[in-house]
Amino acid sequence: MNFFSFSRAASVADALRDAGAGAKFVAGGTTLVDLMKLDVETPAVVIDINRLPLAEVGPAPEGGLRIGALARNSDVAHHPAVVRDYPVLAEALLSGASAQLRNMATTGGNLVQRTRCVYFRDTASACNKRVPGSGCAAIGGYNRNLAIVGTSEHCIASHPSDQNVALTALEATVQITGARGDRSVPIGEFYLLPGDTPERETVLEPGEMITSVTLPPPAPGARSTYLKLRDRASYEFALASAAVVATVTNGTLERVRIAMGGIGTKPWRNRDAELALEGKRVSAERFAAAAQIILSGVKPQPGNAFKVELGKRCLVHALKLVTAEA
Ligand SMILES: Cc1cc2nc3c(=O)[nH]c(=O)nc-3n(C[C@H](O)[C@H](O)[C@H](O)COP(=O)(O)OP(=O)(O)OC[C@H]3O[C@@H](n4cnc5c(N)ncnc54)[C@H](O)[C@@H]3O)c2cc1C
Ligand code: SF4
Repeated sequence: MNFFSFSRAASVADALRDAGAGAKFVAGGTTLVDLMKLDVETPAVVIDINRLPLAEVGPAPEGGLRIGALARNSDVAHHPAVVRDYPVLAEALLSGASAQLRNMATTGGNLVQRTRCVYFRDTASACNKRVPGSGCAAIGGYNRNLAIVGTSEHCIASHPSDQNVALTALEATVQITGARGDRSVPIGEFYLLPGDTPERETVLEPGEMITSVTLPPPAPGARSTYLKLRDRASYEFALASAAVVATVTNGTLERVRIAMGGIGTKPWRNRDAELALEGKRVSAERFAAAAQIILSGVKPQPGNAFKVELGKRCLVHALKLVTAEA
Protein backbone atom coordinates (compact mmCIF):
# COMPACT_ATOMS: atom_id res chain seq x y z
CA MET A 1 0.00 0.00 0.00
CA ASN A 2 1.20 3.48 -0.85
CA PHE A 3 0.70 5.98 1.96
CA PHE A 4 0.28 9.61 0.97
CA SER A 5 -0.70 12.86 2.60
CA PHE A 6 -3.79 14.70 1.37
CA SER A 7 -4.53 18.40 1.49
CA ARG A 8 -7.20 20.66 0.09
CA ALA A 9 -5.74 23.88 -1.28
CA ALA A 10 -7.65 27.09 -0.60
CA SER A 11 -5.55 29.18 -3.01
CA VAL A 12 -3.06 28.70 -5.82
CA ALA A 13 -0.27 29.82 -3.48
CA ASP A 14 -1.40 27.19 -0.98
CA ALA A 15 -1.30 24.48 -3.62
CA LEU A 16 2.13 25.49 -4.90
CA ARG A 17 3.58 25.56 -1.38
CA ASP A 18 2.77 21.86 -0.84
CA ALA A 19 3.70 20.82 -4.41
CA GLY A 20 7.06 19.53 -5.59
CA ALA A 21 8.69 16.26 -6.52
CA GLY A 22 6.44 13.37 -5.45
CA ALA A 23 3.32 15.54 -5.25
CA LYS A 24 0.28 15.36 -7.51
CA PHE A 25 -2.64 17.72 -7.94
CA VAL A 26 -6.02 16.06 -8.15
CA ALA A 27 -8.77 17.74 -10.16
CA GLY A 28 -11.59 15.49 -11.47
CA GLY A 29 -9.60 12.46 -10.38
CA THR A 30 -10.74 10.40 -13.39
CA THR A 31 -7.17 9.54 -14.39
CA LEU A 32 -5.21 9.97 -11.18
CA VAL A 33 -7.43 7.95 -8.84
CA ASP A 34 -7.58 5.02 -11.31
CA LEU A 35 -3.80 4.98 -11.61
CA MET A 36 -3.31 5.23 -7.84
CA LYS A 37 -5.59 2.23 -7.33
CA LEU A 38 -3.41 0.31 -9.80
CA ASP A 39 -0.19 1.42 -8.03
CA VAL A 40 0.95 3.00 -11.29
CA GLU A 41 0.95 6.46 -9.72
CA THR A 42 2.29 6.50 -6.15
CA PRO A 43 2.41 10.16 -5.08
CA ALA A 44 3.63 10.99 -1.59
CA VAL A 45 1.43 14.08 -1.51
CA VAL A 46 -1.98 14.60 -3.13
CA ILE A 47 -3.29 18.15 -3.34
CA ASP A 48 -6.96 18.67 -4.12
CA ILE A 49 -7.23 21.80 -6.27
CA ASN A 50 -10.98 21.73 -6.82
CA ARG A 51 -11.63 24.77 -4.60
CA LEU A 52 -9.34 27.07 -6.57
CA PRO A 53 -11.02 29.77 -8.67
CA LEU A 54 -9.88 28.30 -12.00
CA ALA A 55 -13.12 27.05 -13.53
CA GLU A 56 -14.14 30.12 -15.51
CA VAL A 57 -14.54 30.21 -19.30
CA GLY A 58 -14.57 33.73 -20.74
CA PRO A 59 -12.92 36.26 -23.01
CA ALA A 60 -9.12 36.34 -22.85
CA PRO A 61 -7.64 39.80 -22.18
CA GLU A 62 -5.72 39.69 -25.47
CA GLY A 63 -8.75 38.42 -27.45
CA GLY A 64 -9.95 34.88 -27.96
CA LEU A 65 -11.14 32.63 -25.16
CA ARG A 66 -9.62 31.74 -21.82
CA ILE A 67 -10.57 28.37 -20.36
CA GLY A 68 -9.74 27.82 -16.69
CA ALA A 69 -7.83 24.67 -15.83
CA LEU A 70 -10.71 23.49 -13.62
CA ALA A 71 -13.42 24.05 -16.24
CA ARG A 72 -15.15 20.69 -16.62
CA ASN A 73 -15.08 19.07 -20.04
CA SER A 74 -18.91 19.13 -20.25
CA ASP A 75 -19.09 22.84 -19.33
CA VAL A 76 -16.51 23.71 -21.99
CA ALA A 77 -18.22 21.57 -24.64
CA HIS A 78 -21.56 23.33 -24.08
CA HIS A 79 -20.23 26.85 -23.55
CA PRO A 80 -21.90 29.15 -26.13
CA ALA A 81 -18.60 30.73 -27.21
CA VAL A 82 -17.02 27.31 -27.77
CA VAL A 83 -20.02 26.01 -29.69
CA ARG A 84 -20.10 29.16 -31.84
CA ASP A 85 -16.42 29.90 -32.43
CA TYR A 86 -14.54 26.64 -31.78
CA PRO A 87 -16.88 23.76 -32.74
CA VAL A 88 -13.87 21.47 -33.23
CA LEU A 89 -13.25 21.66 -29.48
CA ALA A 90 -16.89 21.04 -28.55
CA GLU A 91 -17.03 18.04 -30.90
CA ALA A 92 -13.74 16.62 -29.61
CA LEU A 93 -14.84 16.91 -25.98
CA LEU A 94 -18.23 15.36 -26.63
CA SER A 95 -16.60 12.43 -28.45
CA GLY A 96 -14.60 11.57 -25.32
CA ALA A 97 -15.38 9.24 -22.43
CA SER A 98 -18.98 9.36 -21.12
CA ALA A 99 -21.30 12.10 -19.88
CA GLN A 100 -20.51 11.25 -16.25
CA LEU A 101 -16.76 11.37 -16.85
CA ARG A 102 -16.99 14.62 -18.78
CA ASN A 103 -18.87 16.16 -15.84
CA MET A 104 -15.84 15.45 -13.63
CA ALA A 105 -12.89 15.70 -16.04
CA THR A 106 -11.18 19.09 -16.20
CA THR A 107 -9.33 20.97 -18.89
CA GLY A 108 -6.04 20.80 -16.97
CA GLY A 109 -6.40 17.13 -16.06
CA ASN A 110 -7.24 16.25 -19.64
CA LEU A 111 -4.08 18.01 -20.83
CA VAL A 112 -1.90 15.68 -18.72
CA GLN A 113 -3.93 12.47 -18.75
CA ARG A 114 -1.73 9.39 -19.20
CA THR A 115 -1.58 6.86 -22.01
CA ARG A 116 -3.99 3.90 -22.25
CA CYS A 117 -1.17 1.47 -23.13
CA VAL A 118 -2.20 -1.70 -21.26
CA TYR A 119 1.34 -2.44 -20.09
CA PHE A 120 1.69 1.02 -18.55
CA ARG A 121 -1.31 0.20 -16.35
CA ASP A 122 -0.04 -3.25 -15.36
CA THR A 123 2.76 -3.17 -12.79
CA ALA A 124 3.74 -6.76 -13.67
CA SER A 125 4.81 -5.67 -17.19
CA ALA A 126 7.97 -4.03 -18.46
CA CYS A 127 7.30 -0.37 -19.20
CA ASN A 128 9.92 2.33 -19.67
CA LYS A 129 7.35 5.04 -19.09
CA ARG A 130 6.37 3.66 -15.67
CA VAL A 131 9.77 2.27 -14.66
CA PRO A 132 12.54 3.88 -16.76
CA GLY A 133 14.95 1.28 -18.12
CA SER A 134 12.64 -1.70 -17.59
CA GLY A 135 11.86 -2.23 -21.29
CA CYS A 136 8.76 -1.90 -23.42
CA ALA A 137 6.35 -4.82 -23.49
CA ALA A 138 4.25 -3.14 -26.18
CA ILE A 139 6.96 -3.41 -28.83
CA GLY A 140 6.31 -6.90 -30.13
CA GLY A 141 3.30 -7.18 -27.79
CA TYR A 142 -0.26 -5.89 -27.92
CA ASN A 143 -0.15 -2.51 -29.58
CA ARG A 144 -3.35 -2.14 -31.59
CA ASN A 145 -4.19 1.19 -29.93
CA LEU A 146 -0.64 2.58 -29.82
CA ALA A 147 1.24 5.15 -31.87
CA ILE A 148 2.76 4.96 -35.33
CA VAL A 149 4.31 8.45 -35.42
CA GLY A 150 6.64 10.10 -32.92
CA THR A 151 7.62 6.74 -31.45
CA SER A 152 11.04 5.66 -30.20
CA GLU A 153 12.69 2.32 -29.52
CA HIS A 154 11.83 2.94 -25.87
CA CYS A 155 8.11 3.74 -26.10
CA ILE A 156 5.29 3.69 -28.65
CA ALA A 157 2.49 4.85 -26.35
CA SER A 158 -0.21 6.91 -28.02
CA HIS A 159 -1.46 10.17 -26.61
CA PRO A 160 -5.05 9.41 -25.57
CA SER A 161 -6.84 12.76 -25.49
CA ASP A 162 -9.40 14.15 -27.91
CA GLN A 163 -9.46 17.62 -26.34
CA ASN A 164 -5.75 18.12 -26.90
CA VAL A 165 -5.96 17.28 -30.60
CA ALA A 166 -8.55 20.03 -31.06
CA LEU A 167 -6.47 22.44 -28.92
CA THR A 168 -3.47 21.73 -31.16
CA ALA A 169 -5.39 22.52 -34.35
CA LEU A 170 -6.64 25.71 -32.64
CA GLU A 171 -3.06 26.68 -31.69
CA ALA A 172 -3.93 27.04 -28.02
CA THR A 173 -1.53 28.29 -25.37
CA VAL A 174 -1.14 26.69 -21.94
CA GLN A 175 -0.68 28.98 -18.91
CA ILE A 176 1.46 27.50 -16.16
CA THR A 177 2.43 28.70 -12.70
CA GLY A 178 5.00 27.37 -10.26
CA ALA A 179 7.67 28.21 -7.74
CA ARG A 180 9.66 30.01 -10.45
CA GLY A 181 6.73 32.14 -11.62
CA ASP A 182 4.28 32.11 -14.51
CA ARG A 183 4.86 31.10 -18.10
CA SER A 184 2.84 30.46 -21.25
CA VAL A 185 3.66 27.57 -23.56
CA PRO A 186 2.19 27.09 -27.05
CA ILE A 187 0.55 23.70 -27.11
CA GLY A 188 2.83 22.65 -29.97
CA GLU A 189 5.73 22.90 -27.51
CA PHE A 190 3.93 21.51 -24.46
CA TYR A 191 4.27 17.80 -25.27
CA LEU A 192 7.58 15.95 -25.51
CA LEU A 193 8.42 13.04 -27.78
CA PRO A 194 9.28 9.85 -25.86
CA GLY A 195 12.87 9.57 -27.14
CA ASP A 196 14.88 7.85 -24.42
CA THR A 197 12.90 9.53 -21.59
CA PRO A 198 9.29 8.39 -22.15
CA GLU A 199 8.50 9.06 -18.49
CA ARG A 200 8.65 12.79 -19.33
CA GLU A 201 5.55 13.65 -21.32
CA THR A 202 5.25 17.43 -21.05
CA VAL A 203 7.36 20.47 -20.22
CA LEU A 204 5.69 20.76 -16.81
CA GLU A 205 8.28 20.76 -14.02
CA PRO A 206 7.53 19.06 -10.70
CA GLY A 207 5.15 21.23 -8.69
CA GLU A 208 4.00 23.34 -11.65
CA MET A 209 0.29 23.84 -12.15
CA ILE A 210 -1.71 24.57 -15.28
CA THR A 211 -3.98 27.52 -14.57
CA SER A 212 -5.69 28.01 -17.93
CA VAL A 213 -5.64 27.48 -21.67
CA THR A 214 -6.20 30.32 -24.12
CA LEU A 215 -7.51 30.06 -27.66
CA PRO A 216 -6.66 32.76 -30.19
CA PRO A 217 -9.60 34.60 -31.75
CA PRO A 218 -11.22 32.44 -34.42
CA ALA A 219 -9.89 33.14 -37.93
CA PRO A 220 -12.60 35.04 -39.89
CA GLY A 221 -14.80 32.59 -41.80
CA ALA A 222 -13.08 29.53 -40.34
CA ARG A 223 -14.97 26.25 -40.17
CA SER A 224 -13.87 23.33 -38.09
CA THR A 225 -14.62 19.73 -37.27
CA TYR A 226 -13.37 16.74 -35.28
CA LEU A 227 -13.65 13.23 -36.67
CA LYS A 228 -12.90 10.29 -34.39
CA LEU A 229 -12.62 6.68 -35.55
CA ARG A 230 -12.74 3.98 -32.86
CA ASP A 231 -13.80 0.42 -32.16
CA ARG A 232 -17.08 1.46 -30.48
CA ALA A 233 -19.29 4.42 -31.24
CA SER A 234 -18.97 5.82 -27.71
CA TYR A 235 -16.98 5.45 -24.50
CA GLU A 236 -13.87 4.55 -26.46
CA PHE A 237 -10.51 6.14 -27.25
CA ALA A 238 -9.55 7.08 -30.83
CA LEU A 239 -7.72 4.70 -33.13
CA ALA A 240 -7.36 7.68 -35.43
CA SER A 241 -8.86 11.14 -35.24
CA ALA A 242 -8.51 14.42 -37.09
CA ALA A 243 -9.18 18.00 -36.02
CA VAL A 244 -9.39 20.38 -38.95
CA VAL A 245 -9.80 24.16 -38.90
CA ALA A 246 -10.05 25.65 -42.39
CA THR A 247 -11.01 28.84 -44.15
CA VAL A 248 -12.28 28.35 -47.70
CA THR A 249 -12.94 31.25 -50.06
CA ASN A 250 -14.53 30.59 -53.44
CA GLY A 251 -13.35 27.00 -53.41
CA THR A 252 -9.78 27.83 -52.37
CA LEU A 253 -8.30 26.78 -49.02
CA GLU A 254 -6.92 30.01 -47.55
CA ARG A 255 -5.85 28.77 -44.14
CA VAL A 256 -5.65 25.20 -42.85
CA ARG A 257 -4.75 23.78 -39.45
CA ILE A 258 -4.71 20.02 -38.92
CA ALA A 259 -3.98 17.90 -35.87
CA MET A 260 -4.36 14.17 -35.59
CA GLY A 261 -5.03 11.91 -32.61
CA GLY A 262 -4.76 8.18 -31.99
CA ILE A 263 -1.76 7.83 -34.31
CA GLY A 264 0.88 9.82 -32.43
CA THR A 265 2.80 9.87 -29.17
CA LYS A 266 1.48 13.43 -28.85
CA PRO A 267 -1.26 15.37 -30.66
CA TRP A 268 0.19 15.25 -34.15
CA ARG A 269 0.61 18.31 -36.34
CA ASN A 270 2.62 18.55 -39.54
CA ARG A 271 2.90 22.04 -41.01
CA ASP A 272 4.01 20.65 -44.38
CA ALA A 273 0.64 18.96 -44.83
CA GLU A 274 -1.14 22.25 -44.10
CA LEU A 275 1.10 24.13 -46.53
CA ALA A 276 0.35 21.54 -49.21
CA LEU A 277 -3.30 22.62 -48.98
CA GLU A 278 -3.10 26.37 -48.38
CA GLY A 279 -3.74 28.45 -51.49
CA LYS A 280 -5.00 25.38 -53.37
CA ARG A 281 -8.42 24.47 -54.69
CA VAL A 282 -10.50 22.07 -52.64
CA SER A 283 -10.02 18.59 -54.11
CA ALA A 284 -10.06 15.00 -52.88
CA GLU A 285 -6.68 14.38 -54.55
CA ARG A 286 -5.06 17.23 -52.60
CA PHE A 287 -6.58 15.96 -49.36
CA ALA A 288 -5.10 12.52 -50.05
CA ALA A 289 -1.71 14.09 -50.79
CA ALA A 290 -1.78 15.99 -47.48
CA ALA A 291 -2.64 12.78 -45.62
CA GLN A 292 0.22 11.05 -47.39
CA ILE A 293 2.64 13.73 -46.13
CA ILE A 294 1.59 13.06 -42.53
CA LEU A 295 1.63 9.29 -42.78
CA SER A 296 4.57 8.56 -45.05
CA GLY A 297 7.70 7.05 -43.49
CA VAL A 298 5.91 6.07 -40.29
CA LYS A 299 7.04 3.05 -38.27
CA PRO A 300 4.05 0.93 -37.29
CA GLN A 301 4.09 -2.37 -35.45
CA PRO A 302 2.38 -5.39 -37.04
CA GLY A 303 -0.51 -4.88 -34.60
CA ASN A 304 -1.19 -1.28 -35.53
CA ALA A 305 -0.09 -1.03 -39.19
CA PHE A 306 -3.77 -0.66 -40.13
CA LYS A 307 -3.59 2.85 -38.67
CA VAL A 308 -1.58 4.09 -41.65
CA GLU A 309 -4.53 3.68 -44.00
CA LEU A 310 -7.09 4.45 -41.30
CA GLY A 311 -5.33 7.70 -40.46
CA LYS A 312 -5.24 8.76 -44.12
CA ARG A 313 -8.92 8.02 -44.61
CA CYS A 314 -9.79 9.79 -41.37
CA LEU A 315 -8.05 12.98 -42.42
CA VAL A 316 -9.39 12.94 -45.98
CA HIS A 317 -12.92 12.50 -44.68
CA ALA A 318 -12.53 15.27 -42.10
CA LEU A 319 -11.25 17.62 -44.81
CA LYS A 320 -14.23 16.73 -47.01
CA LEU A 321 -16.62 17.41 -44.14
CA VAL A 322 -15.15 20.78 -43.28
CA THR A 323 -15.08 21.98 -46.89
CA ALA A 324 -18.42 20.42 -47.94
CA GLU A 325 -20.62 23.51 -48.07
CA ALA A 326 -17.92 26.13 -48.43
C1 LIG B 1 -13.35 5.03 -18.82
C2 LIG B 1 -12.67 6.27 -19.35
C3 LIG B 1 -12.84 6.61 -20.68
C4 LIG B 1 -12.22 7.76 -21.17
N1 LIG B 1 -12.37 8.09 -22.50
C5 LIG B 1 -11.74 9.19 -22.98
C6 LIG B 1 -11.86 9.55 -24.36
O1 LIG B 1 -12.53 8.89 -25.16
N2 LIG B 1 -11.19 10.65 -24.78
C7 LIG B 1 -10.45 11.42 -23.94
O2 LIG B 1 -9.88 12.41 -24.38
N3 LIG B 1 -10.31 11.10 -22.65
C8 LIG B 1 -10.95 10.00 -22.16
N4 LIG B 1 -10.80 9.68 -20.85
C9 LIG B 1 -9.86 10.42 -20.02
C10 LIG B 1 -10.46 11.60 -19.31
O3 LIG B 1 -10.76 12.58 -20.26
C11 LIG B 1 -9.39 12.08 -18.35
O4 LIG B 1 -9.31 11.12 -17.31
C12 LIG B 1 -9.72 13.44 -17.77
O5 LIG B 1 -9.76 14.41 -18.76
C13 LIG B 1 -8.66 13.83 -16.73
O6 LIG B 1 -9.10 14.99 -16.09
P1 LIG B 1 -9.25 15.03 -14.51
O7 LIG B 1 -9.61 16.41 -14.15
O8 LIG B 1 -10.16 13.94 -14.02
O9 LIG B 1 -7.76 14.73 -14.11
P2 LIG B 1 -7.10 14.07 -12.76
O10 LIG B 1 -7.38 12.63 -12.78
O11 LIG B 1 -7.58 14.84 -11.58
O12 LIG B 1 -5.63 14.39 -13.04
C14 LIG B 1 -4.95 13.83 -14.14
C15 LIG B 1 -3.50 14.27 -14.10
O13 LIG B 1 -3.43 15.65 -14.31
C16 LIG B 1 -2.78 16.30 -13.24
N5 LIG B 1 -3.45 17.60 -13.11
C17 LIG B 1 -4.77 17.82 -12.96
N6 LIG B 1 -5.02 19.14 -12.99
C18 LIG B 1 -3.83 19.75 -13.13
C19 LIG B 1 -3.42 21.12 -13.23
N7 LIG B 1 -4.30 22.12 -13.21
N8 LIG B 1 -2.10 21.39 -13.40
C20 LIG B 1 -1.19 20.38 -13.46
N9 LIG B 1 -1.52 19.08 -13.37
C21 LIG B 1 -2.83 18.77 -13.22
C22 LIG B 1 -2.94 15.37 -12.06
O14 LIG B 1 -1.92 15.56 -11.12
C23 LIG B 1 -2.84 14.03 -12.74
O15 LIG B 1 -1.49 13.69 -12.97
C24 LIG B 1 -11.43 8.56 -20.31
C25 LIG B 1 -11.29 8.21 -18.96
C26 LIG B 1 -11.90 7.08 -18.47
C27 LIG B 1 -11.74 6.75 -17.02
S1 SF4 C 1 4.64 1.70 -25.19
FE1 SF4 C 1 5.41 3.08 -23.60
S2 SF4 C 1 3.79 2.99 -22.07
FE2 SF4 C 1 3.54 1.15 -23.34
S3 SF4 C 1 4.82 -0.47 -22.42
FE3 SF4 C 1 6.09 0.56 -23.90
S4 SF4 C 1 7.16 2.08 -22.64
FE4 SF4 C 1 5.36 1.49 -21.49
